[in-house]
Amino acid sequence: MSNSVPEGSAGLQVITVLGSTGSIGVSTLDVVARHPSKFSVFALTANTNVDVLEQQCLSFSPTYAVLQDSASAQELKKRLASTKISTEVLTGNDALISVVEDGAVDTVMAAIVGAAGLLPTLAAVKMGKKVLLANKEALVMAGGLFMSALSQSQAILLPIDSEHNAIFQCLPNTLKQRDKTSSSYDIAGVKKVLLTGSGGPFRQWPIEAIQKATPDQACNHPNWSMGRKISVDSASLMNKGLEFIEARWLFGLDPKNIEVVIHPQSIIHSMVEYNDGSVLAQLGQPDMRTPIAHALAWPSRIDSGVKSLDFMSLSGLDFERPDLERFPALSLAISVASQPSSAATVLNAANEVAVDAFLNSRIGFGNIAAVLDTVLFSANFFELDSIDAVLDADLYARKMSQAVIASL
Ligand code: NAD
Ligand code: MG
Repeated sequence: MSNSVPEGSAGLQVITVLGSTGSIGVSTLDVVARHPSKFSVFALTANTNVDVLEQQCLSFSPTYAVLQDSASAQELKKRLASTKISTEVLTGNDALISVVEDGAVDTVMAAIVGAAGLLPTLAAVKMGKKVLLANKEALVMAGGLFMSALSQSQAILLPIDSEHNAIFQCLPNTLKQRDKTSSSYDIAGVKKVLLTGSGGPFRQWPIEAIQKATPDQACNHPNWSMGRKISVDSASLMNKGLEFIEARWLFGLDPKNIEVVIHPQSIIHSMVEYNDGSVLAQLGQPDMRTPIAHALAWPSRIDSGVKSLDFMSLSGLDFERPDLERFPALSLAISVASQPSSAATVLNAANEVAVDAFLNSRIGFGNIAAVLDTVLFSANFFELDSIDAVLDADLYARKMSQAVIASL
């Protein structure tokens, strides 16, 4: 994290949006569209969603559009050929990296879901871009290597996850810089970080009902509208667990100084407690356009399209301890945060496989944490010293998870 803002030659911030067709991608383009004099879109990328990417190309005329799936890329190329849009359509991993690394790009929104986002996000860091990080899985699976790549580059890393964006806003400027030392927290008097979470759709459900929950019930979040994978993670509280590990890396925190607080209204997005008893919180509507606009414009502020918080209409702000018995995935993630770094890679990969199996009705909701537990128990944990080691640990956990799921 650093303190200078790059700008393209015309005074525009030139942006590549990785995962532009997803929930965060769409919200990002909503903010971008409100400020045509500030931002221009260099590239938009997606996995297979031709329909949404086509509409986005028509609206933003990016130089490049990348579809990971080659048949989808052919289809988009065909559709754009009959328009006035000159967007070049590319496909594959190398294309994804090239639209990140291009010298014309100032800013990369990293909003691919899951481990698939790691290499392009890391490429953006290594090329010294301003990186807006939504893709928390990249940091969970490779946190130490990711942060060391950041410290060796000129990149600026700004958190998009609403909790981490809130913490970033509540920390003093001395702790936002990449060259902070281990004593920076003592000098700044930061006591702990309070990571808030809504508790998800099953917050008040009995354990037996949670175990039998369906994919639609799990994706029916009370406060936030999000992609299906993060919605399931929010229902199991694994999302809070991934965020616990994300916070540890992003802010260089000792896990013992991070506390999870359930706050069902999702109005406070997280807090920082100081030694003198002060607690700073960031509040706002539960709408991702606020952290996105904050990071796009940082250190300035721009309109995000989000309506003001109306304090008179708030019924109250409640706080609870998380229930680790009904939500064992959170407990697993918190213990993994203090293990050698490969443990988080294994946890993340096993969770991606288990959530996918749940969404495809191959396992029940209650099996997700059981798969994670079995896969973590089977693995040896060690400190990751290369991206190849990360990818090996990720692959091991995926194969092991498939085997565990097949045996259920
Ligand atoms: P989503 O499922 O709505 O969108 C995912 C995007 O990634 C899509 O554009 C999809 O095409 C692309 N994608 C998926 N697999 C890919 C692959 N293999 N290769 C290339 N592209 C691929 O997800 P989302 O809710 O927008 O979440 C994106 C990321 O942001 C996740 O890491 C999530 O944890 C994080 N996040 C999301 C929210 C939210 O409110 N949605 C909040 C905080 C953090
Ligand atoms: Mg979050």
